[in-house]
Amino acid sequence: MMADEMKKRFYETTTVLIASKGKNNQLFTNDQYLSLILKVKESKNMITKKTPEDYQRLARYDVVKIGASEKLIIPVKNEGDPIIYYAYLDETFQIIHDCHISIGYGGRVRMMNELKLIYKNVTAELVTVYLNLCESCQKKKSLPKKGLVVKPIISNELNSRCQVDLIDMQSQGDSSVEVYQDHLTKFVQLRSLKTKRAEEVAYHLLKIFTTFGAPSILQSDNGGEFANKVVKEVCAM
Ligand SMILES: [Zn+2]
Repeated sequence: MMADEMKKRFYETTTVLIASKGKNNQLFTNDQYLSLILKVKESKNMITKKTPEDYQRLARYDVVKIGASEKLIIPVKNEGDPIIYYAYLDETFQIIHDCHISIGYGGRVRMMNELKLIYKNVTAELVTVYLNLCESCQKKKSLPKKGLVVKPIISNELNSRCQVDLIDMQSQGDSSVEVYQDHLTKFVQLRSLKTKRAEEVAYHLLKIFTTFGAPSILQSDNGGEFANKVVKEVCAM
């Protein structure tokens, strides 16, 4: 998903989320944010006739000038305390996105640890909405656990690893087929079998070995016991 599409879907979801919160909502649209800044400044300027509402507002919000713009922040209690901002909705996607990338596609807990140092209202809920839209994180999630991953066997020489398997054709009234394949070249040799006995399989293998050379490793999907028997027979021959 492109970042633009991701952003669009992020705001589709968060808009619904915010509507469901009603008055408890701590996320502001751009307009709400700007009007709150005005109100906070008004409350600050009421020197003598502060109402309870003014005090309430000033307990939660303050305004600082950063460059040319005014930002809504948590009132700073002690000088030197870090400034914690309120974000407005339109900027939250970019904030969350930048944070996610800057900590190497970190998960929700690590992201919240970073975000709460700077923002009061970039909530875990918003981060979760974002992470559910992040394709690479969703892909990571759906990968099987380590240990279940099948490692491809890499052979770099002819005859370094070969495989012998039997295909049972007897249900179709035919004899079995011995399949012999080199891992590197995928070169396949087929032999028809009258029986599935190790002796007969070994007999055909020996003919192949004397023509093409014997493999360093012989493996079989028919199981270790079958492979062992075959190898024993080949050696005896
Ligand atoms: Zn991600």
